[in-house]
Amino acid sequence: NEAISVRNLNYAYPDGTLALKDIEIHVKKGEKIGILGPNGAGKTTLFMHLNGVIKNPDGEVNIFNQDISSLKTEERIHRVGVVFQDPDDQLFMPTIFDDVAFGPINMGLNKEEVQKRVSSALKTVGLSGFEERVPHNLSYGQKKRAAIAAVLSMEPDILILDEPTANLDPRSKAELIKLVNRLNSEGITTIIASHEVNTLPELVDRIYIINREIIAEGTPREIFSNW
Ligand code: ADP
Ligand code: ADP
Repeated sequence: NEAISVRNLNYAYPDGTLALKDIEIHVKKGEKIGILGPNGAGKTTLFMHLNGVIKNPDGEVNIFNQDISSLKTEERIHRVGVVFQDPDDQLFMPTIFDDVAFGPINMGLNKEEVQKRVSSALKTVGLSGFEERVPHNLSYGQKKRAAIAAVLSMEPDILILDEPTANLDPRSKAELIKLVNRLNSEGITTIIASHEVNTLPELVDRIYIINREIIAEGTPREIFSNW
């Protein structure tokens, strides 16, 4: 029941910047994990390994006991969905419908199934009826939720959220946390990345502290009792 197994993972960018050093991470199915680390700690680089965007990893990256590199694109995007920090990176189509339908269409689903996936994902994030809206014109909190819908429409087993509550007002923040908790309780394995030491511990069951390498691992209580 291991959802994610990463071992001996290293990565340097072409210019020589070392982003990941000997990373080891294990996540069980259904867990809610936090990845805590400052800007530049390698969180985004790690996620690009977990969703297979960075191919032929220097190290082991297994998703449900399968080497991520061996999966076909349709399978990969169904296994792991990443919601990046800036929703403008994820919403690039003329309408919300097109953005949320993009994944299911790429998975080769038929029109009817695509329609169903879009309605269901928008309902889940509280944006029913937003199909014909222009992404650019939504509020920041609505964009965040639309970006999540665009990932949920692929019905991922693992949902990774990069700084999901950054730049949100307290109410939108609370709503977003409720949404993520509900998705996790419905069985989606969840990873939340953040640099907010004050927020993350109360949101997750277990934390990895990362700064290019793993600095610490444990429950929030274990990690922070000595601080
Ligand atoms: P985080 O998501 O935790 O902020 P990143 O994974 O984005 O961290 O970055 C890890 C390190 O790699 C940082 O030092 C960053 O500056 C560097 N980096 C990120 N993208 C590139 C790139 N395209 N080329 C060179 N270095 C990069
Ligand atoms: P960080 O805390 O990581 O430095 P930034 O302040 O750079 O984050 O913001 C991350 C992204 O969110 C940026 O692309 C920025 O344009 C966007 N952003 C921040 N606040 C708002 C806002 N109120 N409305 C729309 N976009 C915002």
